[in-house]
Amino acid sequence: MGEIQVVPPALDRLVRSFSSLPGIGTKTATRLALTILRKPAADAREMAAALSELHGSIRLCSHCMAFSETDPCSVCGDPRRDGSLVCVVEQPADLMAIEKTDHYRGHYHILHGVLSPVAGIGPEELKIKELVARLKSGTISEVLIATSSTVPGEATASYLIDTLGRFQVKLSRLACGIPMGMDIKYADQHTLARAIDSRFNAS
Ligand SMILES: [Zn+2]
Repeated sequence: MGEIQVVPPALDRLVRSFSSLPGIGTKTATRLALTILRKPAADAREMAAALSELHGSIRLCSHCMAFSETDPCSVCGDPRRDGSLVCVVEQPADLMAIEKTDHYRGHYHILHGVLSPVAGIGPEELKIKELVARLKSGTISEVLIATSSTVPGEATASYLIDTLGRFQVKLSRLACGIPMGMDIKYADQHTLARAIDSRFNAS
């Protein structure tokens, strides 16, 4: 005798799709799916439309590798920002954290990860060659490395300092004040603002 299907297949499919997301187990996925099911059908259609548009309308900015609906993104395309200063961050969430400090007027470069030999993430998996290409253009005079003060974050910073050292640019590192082991997106705004102001020379 086959297994009795208690969960309708359509619901099961949604539960499995939610539980593929980080931090969402089957229990949470089931709760989310049931919540959507109880809402009016129009709400579900709205969510479905947002999901299906996601990949169609959002791309990577060809300069800084940020997710954006436009290329260049709003930061790279803003003439009031200083394009000679580039802040290198691990993830889009780090850019958002720095923007929230309202204390930084340069451009960004998003690596989309950190070096992690254990997880099989080497320099090729990160947006490092894109950063090197930007430096070759000669318009950048300072690179502020703002990777987290975690072990992979520090390893990534060292790699960048080695790799970018051959260019005529000032390399700086986000200053202390960010506790060791902390992901910068969790640092409070004042600490982060101070760390930007008192960045130190890394080259
Ligand atoms: Zn950009």
